[in-house]
Amino acid sequence: FALYAISYLQGYLGAESCPTTIDLEPWSQVVSLRTHTLFNSLLFSSRLNITWSLSFRPSRQDLQPASPLRTILPHSIFQTAWKLWKNLNLFVLAQLVSPCGRYLMNWLDLRYLGIVGRKGRIPTWFNFIKNNFLSSPFSSLLLPLYFINSSFTLASPCLLDHTVKDYHFYPQWAINFDSATQTLSVGHVCITYKKQDSAIMSHWLPVSSSADERSYNPCPGCSFNIPALSKKSAIKQRCNSEKCFFNVILSETVGYPTRNAKVFAAYLPITLSTSWSYATSLALVHLSKPSLSTFSTLSSSFKDKTDDVVLPLSVQSLYTDGSFHVATDSSPASMTSAWLALDDDGLILESSSLQLFSCLPSALRSEIYAVVLGLNALSRGSSISIHTDCSQLISLWKRFVDVPFSPKLLREHNHLLWLSIRYLIMDRDLKVDLIKVPAHGDDIYNMQADSLAKDAHSSSPPNISPLAFCYAPCLLLFNSLPIDMNIRHFLRSIADARALLSFCSLARFTALGSPSLFDWA
Ligand SMILES: [Zn+2]
Repeated sequence: FALYAISYLQGYLGAESCPTTIDLEPWSQVVSLRTHTLFNSLLFSSRLNITWSLSFRPSRQDLQPASPLRTILPHSIFQTAWKLWKNLNLFVLAQLVSPCGRYLMNWLDLRYLGIVGRKGRIPTWFNFIKNNFLSSPFSSLLLPLYFINSSFTLASPCLLDHTVKDYHFYPQWAINFDSATQTLSVGHVCITYKKQDSAIMSHWLPVSSSADERSYNPCPGCSFNIPALSKKSAIKQRCNSEKCFFNVILSETVGYPTRNAKVFAAYLPITLSTSWSYATSLALVHLSKPSLSTFSTLSSSFKDKTDDVVLPLSVQSLYTDGSFHVATDSSPASMTSAWLALDDDGLILESSSLQLFSCLPSALRSEIYAVVLGLNALSRGSSISIHTDCSQLISLWKRFVDVPFSPKLLREHNHLLWLSIRYLIMDRDLKVDLIKVPAHGDDIYNMQADSLAKDAHSSSPPNISPLAFCYAPCLLLFNSLPIDMNIRHFLRSIADARALLSFCSLARFTALGSPSLFDWA
């Protein structure tokens, strides 16, 4: 949605660059922008000197390829429907089209996805599209003129639950696309084996061959069936209506977008929330698209900013440490971090230490930075242990790195650093274990990392940008510095500072002398 909203703003403002970098004040007079949520977020944050850096959409994207509804529908229809579209945030035909960009989605799928309202009849404007934009009255295939490039369609993939344990029976509705035989099949993924990239799936068949079909029957048994699988005890006990089971490759399998539909009685068809055509289109777009494309364009823009040390694959362990000096009257706060890389013979291959930019400085932050810098030096596919004497780092790692992403992470201190760690692990395919070493023990490597970090306080001042290691899709900046804390707490502290300033400036105090005379604490 943010992508659409930003493109919409760029089109509206005629901005060649991201709207976050231009002066929005004059535009706040425009009534339709005054009620635009994203516009207001950008405007109000710019008033507080917070800028947004959205690296994934740096230049203006024209919405023309997404077919704006206002340009493709007759004026009379536009006039009766635009209020509704505005409420629904509907701007372009691309929002109503299947992920592959070739089919008009059916109304029930649009409802399930929350793109249109849950109640009421199919409106005139949608029927107009159905009657005029489709290749035939019997299919939802669009006329080639209205095909949408799939980079403009809404295709957020429905993934299988990765927290399900291997070897456990846990049925999930799924679609498999066997790339060898080019066959699509729908069914329950019953048991997963993530290490072997495989799963056991039951086979279900659509009740009819209609593209809008959303009801399925268990397959009574076909050439896919591997009889040995249905003899497994978990499957024998739990699946009494399903007869046809086969092995699938897990990385060729995605979830079927549906509310949980339980199999109640044997041999009765089951109705899922979305149609066969939507679910398969989404699966095909996801399985054929190289993943992480948005991230890789982002990271390439950061890569030239740092001289990367690339460590060999023989690295077995990293010792990381950070050091932090609190600000005093005579010197500002100082953060440093260091890492040592060892191979399996305990030979030190490389070490590095660095004074860090003092942005939101803390001891913990210097420790996390040490890990980010260490991971950043590893080559693809490395498998390592990180040794640290910071137990807080290890417990936070369990909450923020070892689990699937949750937006709650964005409320935490140092979330940008944690996101960067998650990104590095995913992008470089790293296997990382954390090991606690005693803080003041006799581990010589830990002592060495510690002294490297301490010595770095007197080294040259930081010359890397505080943004250099932020691998995150959106950065909020204040005075060009990343806001690596809960944005609400940050806004509150700005409001507090402003309130104090206006309090200090009251005439009753300024009459007595300059505000700096008083101890306001
Ligand atoms: Zn079958």
